[in-house]
Amino acid sequence: MKWGIIATWRMAYEGIMGAAEDLSQGLSAKDALENTIKAVEDYPFYKSVGYGGLPNEQGIVELDAAYMDGDNFNIGAVAGIQDVKNPISVARKLSNNRFNSFLVGSGATAYAQKNNFERINMLTERAKKIWENRLEEMKNSNLSPYDGHDTVGAVCLDKNKSMVAGTSSSGLFMKKQGRVGDSPLSGSGFYVDSEIGGATATGLGEDLMKGCLSYEIVRLMGEGLSPQAAADKAVYEFHDKLAKRKGKAGAFSLVCMNNKGEWGVATNVEFSFVVATDKESPKIYLANKGEGHTTIIEEASQEWLDAYEERIKRPIQ
Ligand code: ASP
Repeated sequence: MKWGIIATWRMAYEGIMGAAEDLSQGLSAKDALENTIKAVEDYPFYKSVGYGGLPNEQGIVELDAAYMDGDNFNIGAVAGIQDVKNPISVARKLSNNRFNSFLVGSGATAYAQKNNFERINMLTERAKKIWENRLEEMKNSNLSPYDGHDTVGAVCLDKNKSMVAGTSSSGLFMKKQGRVGDSPLSGSGFYVDSEIGGATATGLGEDLMKGCLSYEIVRLMGEGLSPQAAADKAVYEFHDKLAKRKGKAGAFSLVCMNNKGEWGVATNVEFSFVVATDKESPKIYLANKGEGHTTIIEEASQEWLDAYEERIKRPIQ
């Protein structure tokens, strides 16, 4: 019986290792996906998701997350939630609601508190230092504050053919208070239909939401395209459209998987992602845009992995 999971960025690797083991033993996609994203949220050195995530302009960590069940299209989401350890778990619980399934700001935080989700101060000393340094740098230069972002997004298929998608993100570093990206938005940050497949995104939310790219990839897979063909078509055609009509396209990267466990990826920047299926043990890949509307995919080298490890743990002055 088939199973699989695909997720954005190298940071999903440890979670996917656990999920692969669990899915092979019959764990549901619902639990495997939540566990995968929680592992990323809990790791303090990932500065764009959960604990250790970088704050907004005011130094406040505002988190976005979403969870979608591809069997019944249930969606739960939170945006701008504060000091809640696992926003993905709150999103999953909300997905069971007929009403009030997407909560923002203080309403999302109050809901989490009322429902006994663990609360902790999500701003680590390291993230605070990076924020303070950036405020200093911005005084002396014209630096764009918007970097240091990366959402964890995952799509998961279990042995019972159920599929789930989810995202979690601290959004853009130095974002304005209340800014929400694509990650909690259905169709933009994620989409899944168990009878077809799912997709999820990372990159500049303001541009991703212009193209509803996750939905578009699922729609194309539903028309019979392979996941790779669907990702290439949706992502590069939209990139070209934005470049033509607006003069430029922000960075964006999408991963997808169909209900047979086949997967695809497309990106307009160098992008790492992680996959495991019943046929393939967990692997970290790098993707780059190729010639025309194609994607070059290679396994991450040991050198790349070592440099990554060094970079995320480098002391902050
Ligand atoms: N998509 C996220 C946002 O715009 C950021 C990212 O994935 O890099 O909030």
